[in-house]
Amino acid sequence: MTGNATNTLWPDLDDADFLTDLRAVLEEEVAPHAVGIDRDDIYPVQQIHALAAHGLTSLNIHPDYDGAGKSARRTAMLFEEASYHSAAVGISLITIYQVQNLIGRFASPSLQAAVLPEFRQGLITSYALTEQSHGSDIRTLDTKGRRAEDGGWVLNGRKSFITSGSAADAYVILAETDIGVSTFFVRRSMDGIHTETGPNAATFGLRNGPHVDLILEDVRLPGDHLIGVEGKGVSQAMATLSFSRTLAAAISLGIARAAFDGALEFAMNRVAFDQKIYEFQGLQWSFAEMLTRIDAARLLMAAAADALDRDGDAARLSSEAKLLASGLATEVASKAIQICGAYGVTENAPFGRYMRDAKAYEIAGGSSEMLRNTIGKRIAAIYADRQVQS
Ligand SMILES: Cc1cc2nc3c(=O)[nH]c(=O)nc-3n(C[C@H](O)[C@H](O)[C@H](O)COP(=O)(O)OP(=O)(O)OC[C@H]3O[C@@H](n4cnc5c(N)ncnc54)[C@H](O)[C@@H]3O)c2cc1C
Repeated sequence: MTGNATNTLWPDLDDADFLTDLRAVLEEEVAPHAVGIDRDDIYPVQQIHALAAHGLTSLNIHPDYDGAGKSARRTAMLFEEASYHSAAVGISLITIYQVQNLIGRFASPSLQAAVLPEFRQGLITSYALTEQSHGSDIRTLDTKGRRAEDGGWVLNGRKSFITSGSAADAYVILAETDIGVSTFFVRRSMDGIHTETGPNAATFGLRNGPHVDLILEDVRLPGDHLIGVEGKGVSQAMATLSFSRTLAAAISLGIARAAFDGALEFAMNRVAFDQKIYEFQGLQWSFAEMLTRIDAARLLMAAAADALDRDGDAARLSSEAKLLASGLATEVASKAIQICGAYGVTENAPFGRYMRDAKAYEIAGGSSEMLRNTIGKRIAAIYADRQVQS
């Protein structure tokens, strides 16, 4: 691990000065609001705008477009540290970073120039793949896009389960066109767009406001609002998912670290049978096991981020990192509750929130089963390559 401090459980995985400043901002802007955001299930507009003012919603955007041009590793650190306090803020950030990543990689220069600088000003966005009949399987979609006579596009359909959708100023949408699935940028202010809060909009975890349905009725778009090449929506989504899965792993690790720290604080202070409960070997081994696995998952998450920065095997590493980190966070949160006894089960304690948030991330952003499929395909592809070479 990087960072030379030996007196910390969580070694710095990036520049120490950056992390010190970042933690101070998050302590002030996010920590005091974490409980209320979850309890009231509201999008943290004020917190996201405050982070934007610190340049923290545009870390990864190219400096030509008012971004900081920082690495995926640095971006992942933001997500881990923010989610240590509030995973709801983490997922509020992820829908912003997903959209800007897609636009930065694939959109036309005119759309990049128009939209990317707005993130520094606090633009809030959502990423809309899912539909009522299409979750893991997005090869075909019920939302349709057709070319208009003027060279633009017309969209019709309904997207579901859209995180941050209640507050978003703009959305990236996947829709089926004549030659396959394609990606579009739309603004909430456009004619024909509205959101609805249906019966499944409220989740028990990752609560940053309702996961709304987004309805598109004859929405007319300029030609350059098609992102990238028509028909390449699924492969663009896969490329961006490597980025967002790395950030999702970082969110899960923020949750796991918070649960670990909370349980440790309790175990070091709670006395039973005349000793701190931490002194019971069974508990100590639990902490040793959890720390070992969190350390390993953090290194995998950092390797996934580096693969994004250095053109490595990001699809594989980001899938591995999210698979490991999301399951681990659920286990650590559950274990933390057990260690804290009755206090762990109370609403006053944060562990229920940690467990709810952690579990939801075993599904959101690519379920653990789909991640295993991706990793399995990479194993087969690498094996086949080896056979050809030998
Ligand atoms: C908190 C939260 C936030 C979300 N935010 C967004 C968002 O912002 N934008 C968006 O577009 N979507 C969002 N989603 C939707 C999310 O992407 C989907 O829930 C996810 O892709 C799974 O789709 P599904 O729920 O339709 O499950 P399904 O695809 O119906 O799958 C059901 C079960 O079958 C399994 N399964 C499906 N296919 C396979 C397979 N090939 N092999 C093995 N198992 C399989 C799945 O793993 C799952 O266990 C969100 C979901 C949650 C929970």
